[in-house]
Amino acid sequence: MPERTDTVVTRFPPSPTGALHVGGARTALFNWLYARHTGGRFVLRIEDTDAVRSTQASVDAIFEALEWLGIDWDEGPFFQSRRTAIYREYIERLVDGDRAYYCTCSAERLEAMRKKAMETGGKPKYDGTCRDRGIAPGTEGAVVRFRAPLSGSTVLKDRVKGSIVFDNAELDDFIIARSDGSPTYNFCVVIDDLTMGINTIIRGDDHVMNTPKQILLYRALGEDLPVYAHVPMVLGQDRARLSKRHGALSVTAYREMGFLPEALINYLVRLGWSHGDQEYFTRAELIEKFSLANIGKSAGVFDPEKLLALNQEHMRATPLAELTKAAVPFFAAIGLTVSEGKTLERAVETLLPRTKTLAEMAEAGRFYFEASVRYEEKAARKFLKPAAEEPLRLLRENFESLTTFDEPALEGAFAAVMEQTGLKLGKIAQPVRVALTGKTASPGIFEIVSIIGKEAVLRRLDEALKWIAESGQPT
Ligand code: GLU
Repeated sequence: MPERTDTVVTRFPPSPTGALHVGGARTALFNWLYARHTGGRFVLRIEDTDAVRSTQASVDAIFEALEWLGIDWDEGPFFQSRRTAIYREYIERLVDGDRAYYCTCSAERLEAMRKKAMETGGKPKYDGTCRDRGIAPGTEGAVVRFRAPLSGSTVLKDRVKGSIVFDNAELDDFIIARSDGSPTYNFCVVIDDLTMGINTIIRGDDHVMNTPKQILLYRALGEDLPVYAHVPMVLGQDRARLSKRHGALSVTAYREMGFLPEALINYLVRLGWSHGDQEYFTRAELIEKFSLANIGKSAGVFDPEKLLALNQEHMRATPLAELTKAAVPFFAAIGLTVSEGKTLERAVETLLPRTKTLAEMAEAGRFYFEASVRYEEKAARKFLKPAAEEPLRLLRENFESLTTFDEPALEGAFAAVMEQTGLKLGKIAQPVRVALTGKTASPGIFEIVSIIGKEAVLRRLDEALKWIAESGQPT
């Protein structure tokens, strides 16, 4: 068994029965941050004893989500399904030490016991029939029960919730191994945490009710207790526990919507931990500042708008080349072929102030890379009128003669057309904008003309002129 030292050892033990959800990701993050903050170790353990509900696809999805979030583990992944021999050994140890016993009570007897308790308003509890019967190991159909104390109390000293006292009379001789020999959930968790040297357990407060059983197991094995920190659940805006009806739950869904991992971790941490009023944190700052003491007692409410705002901040803080690289797959996802490089970088720069996710960015930047522009009906009717024909044609001529297509040269071309037509910039720029983007709003006109580039600009102007000629609109 690893020695239990002062080094903090935390863990994340997901059950692979689906994708990694934001609530689970927050738990992973707290444990990871605490390990990194203290210079400790972070262990990943896959709790896959439920063979029916556990899938390899979920395991893969969890790894992928953690990797994307930048949550790396120092040990593991361990799989509970491969640790049967270890559990077996501890079950024997408890039975040998008379801290557990075999029980052959039938399902019917237990059901009758449960019914009776319900009828009299009591808590269903095993009545201890087999406690002192000395049933031998290997007896057909026998389960193994933990011999729980009948009186006294068990205290959970929680770093978030304070002390919680459980009356032992309320607990019963719970099963630690089923009749087929398979160990049960609370037992596996304790044996794993013990043998993996875990000394700090940060998890959702839905596990508080399991903790007295786990504490009793540590005691029965003569081991020290870990530090416990039970974190309030994440709620939806209606203050009900976060669920599907509140929107996307999986980390992967947020990745696909174009959130940055840095933004998601920043947001998730703040759903249960604070550092004064600070909202924006870099990863390095989180590692530096994370502490158990600042985990809040009240539940965090998941607010998609806040997450969007934070994502935009993180997008702005990301070096342009890096952000551009991250944006490429989002352009590809909407059918546009783009390649990393200066042009895409400049496009991304112009889209940044107006978008909050990478998916939004790709959508807003569609016009840069599309083969032909689709006009918004209203925009075309309003701005591609016969009156726009002359300035568009003159501009096209001016553009064609340019040898450089940078912003100063373009400004010059626009100025020349203003001069030639006596029109103000706005009167010229708006038809150009519609011709180039199909819309009435876009990044700055000189910027977009320069980024779209001479060849495509000339083509789009030709298309607009053709549209004007063919639409038969009155002046
Ligand atoms: N496997 C459990 C879950 O996914 C976590 C157990 C624990 O943290 O002790 O909820």
